[in-house]
Amino acid sequence: MGLMLERFKEQWARISRLEQIIAVLGWDMETYMPEGGVKPRADQLALLSDLAHQWLTSEETARLIEGAEKEVGGDYFSDAVSMIRVARRAYDKKVKIPRDLVARLARITPRANSIWIRARANSDFRQFQPVLSEIIELNKEQAECLGYAEHRYDALLDLYEPELTTTRVVRLFNELKIHIVPLAREIADRKDSVRTGFLNQKFSTAQQEAFGMLVLRDMHYDFTRGRQDRSAHPFTTSFSPYDVRITTRFSEDDLLSALFSTIHEGGHALYDQGLPLDLVDTPLCQPISLGVHESQSRLWENIVGRSRGFWKHYLPILKTYFPGQLDSVDQEQFYRAVNQVKQSYIRVESDELTYNLHIFIRFEIEKDLIAGVVTATDIPELWNAKYHEYLGITPPDDAQGCLQDIHWAHGSIGYFPTYVIGNLLSAQLFRKAVEDHPLLPKEIEEGRFDALLSWLRKNVHSQGSRYTLGELAASITGGDIPVAPYLGYLTEKFHDMYR
Ligand code: ZN
Repeated sequence: MGLMLERFKEQWARISRLEQIIAVLGWDMETYMPEGGVKPRADQLALLSDLAHQWLTSEETARLIEGAEKEVGGDYFSDAVSMIRVARRAYDKKVKIPRDLVARLARITPRANSIWIRARANSDFRQFQPVLSEIIELNKEQAECLGYAEHRYDALLDLYEPELTTTRVVRLFNELKIHIVPLAREIADRKDSVRTGFLNQKFSTAQQEAFGMLVLRDMHYDFTRGRQDRSAHPFTTSFSPYDVRITTRFSEDDLLSALFSTIHEGGHALYDQGLPLDLVDTPLCQPISLGVHESQSRLWENIVGRSRGFWKHYLPILKTYFPGQLDSVDQEQFYRAVNQVKQSYIRVESDELTYNLHIFIRFEIEKDLIAGVVTATDIPELWNAKYHEYLGITPPDDAQGCLQDIHWAHGSIGYFPTYVIGNLLSAQLFRKAVEDHPLLPKEIEEGRFDALLSWLRKNVHSQGSRYTLGELAASITGGDIPVAPYLGYLTEKFHDMYR
């Protein structure tokens, strides 16, 4: 290995370890930190984030990347060439954002977050609107610094899903919309065909937790390199592939919520645990993008966890965790209950099909906000009109409408579309995995996931960030991210259920 590459890797490892420390502090804040710790923790995080930004955008880093670029050669996807390419991309992006803007963005989020919590409790968007307007302006400023070819929103999308553009999202979403909107409407007329009365019981949270742990172990989530804790909102955080943690929350009144969020976060965690150990602390030991991450969680949660085969194996086991409570429920009833389509106001409580509609709405509003076509004051009216148009329902208040998501309060604009990208990719990956290994569906019926995980490890996880989303899709199926596998999956599943 050349001298410059060697020194570049040392520098990158320092930056990477600093980011791991930031992640540990963030995990602690969301799980065990007492309330009083908020202010000093925010200061600690701001200090370390500023330091990480300085290190990454320093002249030293620039010089080492440039030197290594001259030194390494050969195959485009080799470790050394890929490493420098990924580092260059990250550096070029970060260096365009002035330190002062980074600080202003970091300062506004804790304030916006606490205003959002209050506004949501009062169900009053007007309280949140001024700070949201500031966030939108900061995001516009950030987009101008980053630069874009066509739409200002492109620059923000690129932060979460590199190379994704507004035009492409519009095209993908339109293709989905013409099928999903009428399908959801048809189903709404037949909603009585699914009975879920058996879910209206109290389910011991200790038993829910025990069952979730069993499923996680079957999925091969490695507890020697991870743990599960409780938090207000379920999440996954990774310090390195050696320590990937998930959280969940339980409610006695809801058997399904914790279970599916455990499988979802488990899917995220398997990706992070499967990143290449021999490349730890290099630019390649990270996930490709949010969309690819979401493809992993959704593949496990929806395609595997909400399948007939999965419940063929797990329903008899679940019944033993809740003696006497689910005796009269058969497999088909349970399958239908976990896949019930409901026109709901709240995104995170929505089903697999209508979930996409919630995202289309947010994308359309964000895109117009960043383009300057609409302003924050227009949001409640726009929001409600779009819910009426796409879902046929009108939120009764702001709390159940435009105040429900934390993303904007976090300063994240351009994030939402990655959820649908994850859906699209999950179906494409699963289809290819079954093509390569036709026994997969049979194995899922037996609660065996070794082959599925090996396939994901080989084709996705172990590749780290060597590929972009487009390159990954091309490496696996030889094409772009197509809509067809996902639409095929959705229409087959829900036509069959509600025919
Ligand atoms: Zn997720």
